Amino acid sequence: MSIDDRSTIVIDTQANEAQGRALLAQVQGRVLFVFNTHEHGDHIAGNRLFAGPIISSLQAKEAMLAEGMADGLPNCCFSEQLRLQIAGEEIRMQHFGGHCPGLAIMYLPQSGLLFTGDLVFNGRAPWMGHADFSRWIAVLEELATWDVQTVVPGHGCLGGKELLLHQQETLENFVADVQSWRNTGKGEAEMVELAAAKYAVKPAWYDMLRLAFKRVPR
Ligand SMILES: [Zn+2]
Repeated sequence: MSIDDRSTIVIDTQANEAQGRALLAQVQGRVLFVFNTHEHGDHIAGNRLFAGPIISSLQAKEAMLAEGMADGLPNCCFSEQLRLQIAGEEIRMQHFGGHCPGLAIMYLPQSGLLFTGDLVFNGRAPWMGHADFSRWIAVLEELATWDVQTVVPGHGCLGGKELLLHQQETLENFVADVQSWRNTGKGEAEMVELAAAKYAVKPAWYDMLRLAFKRVPR
């Protein structure tokens, strides 16, 4: 995100090093800091290419350490909230969890701009392998009460506030479906098939579905 001609905030550093290098080439010399929305590898692969502050929630950093990450770890962390003022604009980072333990959003109240990280996937099923479903749904409900003009999701195109509601409904439906499939005695393989068809999940993500089923409350 560009603050002005000379200042850019990098929000997540791409899914692999080549993409990280391409991002760095675009913004080199103008980076105020990097913000990691969360600990998943497809958001932090380019971290070690960036000099200067890397900000994340403390919970995200702890998860990165637990995964054995050594290079490019965040070096400026907050456990609840961090508010900065840059060029007259308030920039708020807030820890929520839900999608995974470390997830934090960035919000610019004056512009109504909300970077949700992977709390929102636009146009495809969300990755739910580390989900705390009740927390995730509650967070989306809360964010929908904020003054938001533009939602920048973790994956997919940006949109308006409707993305928050749509993601919330998808998660609620998924939880209800899994509970009802379980109650009617469906086995894991059958549930994978049903969920893949209903939520357009590709085979590479079937393991994610198996993890997600385990995280749906009984
Ligand atoms: Zn993620």
